[in-house]
Amino acid sequence: MKSFECVVVGAGPAGSAAAIAARRAGFEVAVVDAAPAGRDKTCGDGLTPRAVHALRELGLSAALPTYRNRGLKLHGYGGSVTAPWPEGHYGTEGSASPRSLFDAALADLASSLGAEMFYSCPAIGAEFDDSGAITGVVTSQGTLRAKWVIVADGVRSPFGKQLGRKWHRGQVYGIAARSYCATPFSGEPWMHSHVELRDGAGAIQPGYGWIFPLGDGTVNLGCGALSTDARPAKVNTKKLLLQYADQVRDEWQLGQPENITSALLPMGGAVSNVAGPNWMLIGDAAACVNPLNGEGIDYGLETAIMAVDLIADAAGTHPDLTLVWPHELRRAYGEAFVLARTLARVLTYPQFLPAAGPLALRGPGGRHLMPAAARLMGNLVTEEDRDLVARVWRLAGSMASRVSRASRTRADSPLWSVGLGPGGGSSA
Ligand SMILES: Cc1cc2nc3c(=O)[nH]c(=O)nc-3n(C[C@H](O)[C@H](O)[C@H](O)COP(=O)(O)OP(=O)(O)OC[C@H]3O[C@@H](n4cnc5c(N)ncnc54)[C@H](O)[C@@H]3O)c2cc1C
Repeated sequence: MKSFECVVVGAGPAGSAAAIAARRAGFEVAVVDAAPAGRDKTCGDGLTPRAVHALRELGLSAALPTYRNRGLKLHGYGGSVTAPWPEGHYGTEGSASPRSLFDAALADLASSLGAEMFYSCPAIGAEFDDSGAITGVVTSQGTLRAKWVIVADGVRSPFGKQLGRKWHRGQVYGIAARSYCATPFSGEPWMHSHVELRDGAGAIQPGYGWIFPLGDGTVNLGCGALSTDARPAKVNTKKLLLQYADQVRDEWQLGQPENITSALLPMGGAVSNVAGPNWMLIGDAAACVNPLNGEGIDYGLETAIMAVDLIADAAGTHPDLTLVWPHELRRAYGEAFVLARTLARVLTYPQFLPAAGPLALRGPGGRHLMPAAARLMGNLVTEEDRDLVARVWRLAGSMASRVSRASRTRADSPLWSVGLGPGGGSSA
């Protein structure tokens, strides 16, 4: 049995970033991960300027590969629109990195700063005091005593679930698959997204595809669809991925898709019970994923910084995080997530994209509309931005939040709500 000021559960980007920030704040830190070192993660591997900015804030530029992208190209319905990363708070540098390398680089940095890493060491239970605070994280290799516990155990959050975390599947969630394909165009400086996917017989399929160049002789090629309990996406993502690869093979001179894997993504804060007296869920465990594009590495890094700031500011005192942490998440992301998940819900109607796609991608307004849409999809609007798109986005966000608060039901759960009892949500 060992004692640490901060135990982090999960060594993905969120967990490693939390460990790095906590070491820099002077905490004794342990990180436990269920997987062996160097594990892979199903992902598109894309790093938006927001993620690159968060990496720089953490002093982690060393984890960035040399490859850079300049923005997004959207294709479909007979048109294409180019949306460069906008000038603004986050800068215009995007990148992409295979997760097995990216996550290992972050974890190695945490270790080099003095975090004690325990791999192949799942957290399997917790010990509590009378107030409900965690006193020990029980792992397969023994119990780690902890003053603070940061839970970054990913989308299914098995440890978070033991603490009471619930996922609300009435909200929009994603299902997606990715692969790696060899191509001579791996240095292409644009991320590509296709919103018109067809099966072998030419029928339009629900969902979207992406090709994210990695600058290493391959691209990450994948596809996904948005779903809710009421309108489950009837799509086999692995099959759709193969059809999509066939569709773009000639243009990209693609090799066969390798290492195909698929995963779910709860999004937009659609989980509850994300904190207790001395513990907090961050990253995917707290459903901090953008409902419009499925990106969550940036939020994982940011929530790590926020969580450590909170406990570092507490210096010596022991504030109860049960209400403070969800409040912090809502303050940082509430309006943007409510609006994004409202828009994403519209996309779950199968009639929507075939009707709106041609207007957006081919019509005269598309050239102006789609760069703004790409900026919103890439999480690139900040509180500091004062231009028209940012003002409209914030206004719409606050209106959507008001409507959501007024019409809330148990099924339409609030973001990061506290204290929903059994039945308040369904667990993954
Ligand atoms: C198909 C797909 C494509 C995506 N594309 C992108 C993209 O292009 N860009 C982007 O920004 N985001 C993307 N995302 C989202 C992104 O992958 C996640 O937001 C990101 O991985 C979240 O990081 P995390 O650290 O919270 O969780 P994870 O990276 O999942 O890390 C969680 C860690 O916890 C460990 N763990 C689990 N249970 C336990 C336990 N009981 N004890 C100890 N450890 C445990 C796991 O082994 C894992 O290492 C995509 C997701 C999917 C599914």
